[in-house]
Amino acid sequence: MSSTASARAELIDHLRERGITDERVLHAIAMVPREEFVPTAFKHRAYEDSALPIACGQTISQPYTVAIMTQALQAEPGMRVLEIGTGSGYQAAVLAMLGLKVFTIERHYDLLHAARQTLERIGCNVATHLGDGTVGWSAFAPYDRIVVTAGAPEIPSALLRQLAPDGRLVIPIGGREQQNMQVVVKIGDTNQYDVFDYGEYKFVPLIGRNAWERDDAAPQG
Ligand code: SAH
Repeated sequence: MSSTASARAELIDHLRERGITDERVLHAIAMVPREEFVPTAFKHRAYEDSALPIACGQTISQPYTVAIMTQALQAEPGMRVLEIGTGSGYQAAVLAMLGLKVFTIERHYDLLHAARQTLERIGCNVATHLGDGTVGWSAFAPYDRIVVTAGAPEIPSALLRQLAPDGRLVIPIGGREQQNMQVVVKIGDTNQYDVFDYGEYKFVPLIGRNAWERDDAAPQG
């Protein structure tokens, strides 16, 4: 086995030990070359279970976090899923590998451009959009699943509106530094939701009209 293949296999064992039980999710993670999504300087750390820096002061999420969010989505092949926060494109690739129709939005042009190239290179078919994901992507709504990979102060109402009946939204909610992962399940075709708390996580802030202000617009001092 090559060193990359054995590092990837070790990561999958580790995710299993940490409680990831959905075999389809583990398989999808095993199929995506994470080293393609991290900057050159960090390629040797691609299969560590840690978040790593990417361009624009952002991060590629920790594999465990990607696994738990993907598992929490409980998505079936063929479903339409909207991701807010493309970043490196890694989470989008894992979702595509699960057989989902993936739509992803990023606010930084440089990140989106690089993610597009990576996804294309590894043969992942994902629809990408440059913009503020807190307003969703109405052109392709509704979505069976929505996953937000940045921390929000509250649930953006536009995302609830773009959720299909019985849809699920996975989103970290809380402060700028720390959040609780929430799983929001739409009850049938109503405006009622069940909400489940999956515990504490640290995400970069979700910045936009229905979330936090830009970093450089925050008060100094
Ligand atoms: N899913 C990514 C994680 C990236 S970190 C991955 O697998 O690599 C979160 C990303 O959300 C950052 O790239 C950040 O720029 C982006 N982001 C923050 N607010 C956003 C918004 N309102 N709309 C779209 N993207 C946003």
